[in-house]
Amino acid sequence: MTTWLVTGGAGFIGGNFVLGAVGDGIRVVNLDALTYAGNRDTLASLDGDANHVFVHGDIGDRALVAKLLAEHRPDAVVNFAAESHVDRSIDGPAAFIQTNVVGTLALLEAVRDHWKSLEGEAKQAFRFLHVSTDEVYGTLGETGKFSETTPYAPNSPYSASKAASDHLVRAFHHTYGLPTLTTNCSNNYGPYHFPEKLIPLVIAKALAGEPLPVYGDGKQVRDWLFVSDHCEAIRTVLARGRVGETYNVGGNAEKQNIEVVKAICALLDQRRPREDGQPRESQIAYVADRPGHDRRYAIDASKLRDELGWEPKYDFERGIAETIDWYLDHQDWVKRVLDGSYRLERIGAAA
Ligand code: NAD
Repeated sequence: MTTWLVTGGAGFIGGNFVLGAVGDGIRVVNLDALTYAGNRDTLASLDGDANHVFVHGDIGDRALVAKLLAEHRPDAVVNFAAESHVDRSIDGPAAFIQTNVVGTLALLEAVRDHWKSLEGEAKQAFRFLHVSTDEVYGTLGETGKFSETTPYAPNSPYSASKAASDHLVRAFHHTYGLPTLTTNCSNNYGPYHFPEKLIPLVIAKALAGEPLPVYGDGKQVRDWLFVSDHCEAIRTVLARGRVGETYNVGGNAEKQNIEVVKAICALLDQRRPREDGQPRESQIAYVADRPGHDRRYAIDASKLRDELGWEPKYDFERGIAETIDWYLDHQDWVKRVLDGSYRLERIGAAA
């Protein structure tokens, strides 16, 4: 039976990844520090499932990681654990350096030592996959796309910390031979997304009749990737990616932020019209731009397509419609995040 040690598996992408993997019969040891972004409600359907072992702990705890590796002998480690919100990194960069850089280093050291102790087929097949972001490449003008050879030029404390972690992963491959893989993906969206990020934030505020904050002129461009497509890309790279390589993952769905907000308004107006019949676009409120806000990201994912045959299944129209339907059907999940009750329970259930 395949076993993976997944870090950050109570977060948005990690949670979707763990649900999919356990659903496919893979045994997952899920190490998560349950920061504000960790939500065990997301994993509630796995309660009592012997193929999901939840461990409340920090990737920076090298002894704990070493113990988990020795005990569960995973075939791979998939690292999602991170501080992930750009705005929070502007207010307080230190936590980002602590987890994304110092924490990743401790994790790498524990994984390297474990991998060295393996022999034969187990050592040959072992992989460490690091999940990273396209934000490490900085910003684009009107044209062009990020490829795997684009020089790193991070502009926020978040992207700088992720860039540092990518370099550490690269160094552990070149220096110690650790069989690493790195994926750099664009903005994800979909179910279980914490409502501080653009799409779930706008859905929540639109439904509550509140102003919809849009940074600057709203014309910043992001390449939107539906989360299940991202999870599938990670599994593809894990199964067949070339050791030591990095792969860009994108959704072929470039949209301006204002287009995304207007699309959400239009879909919600159809599905759940406001009581006064007014269009939700009237709630849009432009606010001062984020300092250092990158203008445009776009991903060239042709390496992943040509080498490993992965392509996104979702276009933006389908993805955003499914996302809105999911949020409308899971208002209880959103409510428990917004009122903070998701943090009060279940922590005690940690192994
Ligand atoms: P998230 O913030 O929703 O989840 C992060 C998870 O990591 C949380 O469950 C949190 O509790 C956990 N965590 C934080 N610090 C930890 C630590 N020290 N030890 C163990 N667990 C810890 O993030 P996400 O959006 O799911 O992103 C997952 C990964 O994907 C991150 O590495 C992020 O940089 C990367 N990424 C995200 C996006 C995106 O659009 N969300 C895009 C590109 C890359």
